[in-house]
Amino acid sequence: MLENQSSAFLDDVSYPLMEDFYTIQGEGMHSGKPAYFIRLAGCDVQCWWCDVKESWDESIHPKVKTGDIVQRAAQSGAKIAVITGGEPLLHNLEALSIRLREEGLKVHIETSGSSPLSGHLDWITLSPKRFKKPLDEVFPYVDELKVVVLKNKDLEWAEENAKKCPDEATLLLQPEWETPSSIGLIVDYVKRHPEWGISLQTHKFMNVR
Ligand code: SF4
Repeated sequence: MLENQSSAFLDDVSYPLMEDFYTIQGEGMHSGKPAYFIRLAGCDVQCWWCDVKESWDESIHPKVKTGDIVQRAAQSGAKIAVITGGEPLLHNLEALSIRLREEGLKVHIETSGSSPLSGHLDWITLSPKRFKKPLDEVFPYVDELKVVVLKNKDLEWAEENAKKCPDEATLLLQPEWETPSSIGLIVDYVKRHPEWGISLQTHKFMNVR
């Protein structure tokens, strides 16, 4: 546990970083809010439709100290930091999450849930992938379940995961950007199953990264 370590010690912990930038959260319940995105490198899930394949190999990305990442996040003025990837839970997020919180940011994460939870997290978005299923230990902490839907089979997958989430978790279905034909399927399903809602990649409609 790193909670009792000094800020200087935590700032020295480094993570493979693909990119970090201040933008608008485009997806899910916090869609439309400004947020500082921290995209950690490394992913062992390997979805064929992944739109950040360049994040998979962490060895091609620099190791960046927590202190540098947190300083940039704090200076951006953001109130929310979103740790994403890649699969961010391949890394122990304690140092990064503690320091982000110390600087007054809420810490959100977007994960497939396929590796153990770590860090101090204010909002957990589980985006489960059939290619590497979420660990059972992750489900009790899920705030938002967001399932990418391309075809009917994905709706069964969504329900399978929803059963394991807390009752109060927000349930969202999201069309895959390159497969807009699934929108009709999702709209029809949500109308018949109103416990679900729809998440769109609104940042892509706005053409912001
Ligand atoms: Fe891409 Fe995310 Fe799937 Fe990894 S889990 S392959 S980063 S979509």
